[in-house]
Amino acid sequence: MNTPISDTFARQLKDQRGALLARVRARRGGAIGRADAAAQAREQASDDGAKASEERDLLIGLEERESAELVAIDAALQRIADGSYGLCLQCGASIPAARLHARPTADHCVGCQEAAERHSR
Ligand SMILES: [Zn+2]
Repeated sequence: MNTPISDTFARQLKDQRGALLARVRARRGGAIGRADAAAQAREQASDDGAKASEERDLLIGLEERESAELVAIDAALQRIADGSYGLCLQCGASIPAARLHARPTADHCVGCQEAAERHSR
């Protein structure tokens, strides 16, 4: 899926990723304001490689939930890159756009997600 729609989700995912890292940075640094941190994170997200080691350092400070969120974001970005974004990992059905808008990292259709959640309880 390489359409303007997936571009929209890619941007949304990158913003979400930047905001997540900014939250961690703000928690650790404390000094910089949230808006500054978010702007900084966005800059760094587009600055490949150069800031990679700082990012790795930040990742150590992630809580488990945040780390899982980051993994989900990166996986979604990867699926956009390889064209499988928006398809259920379980059954291959298209995930409704409304669901993706609500949760851009969704990688299962509603049916499979609910089945997985029932299974894990
Ligand atoms: Zn499914």
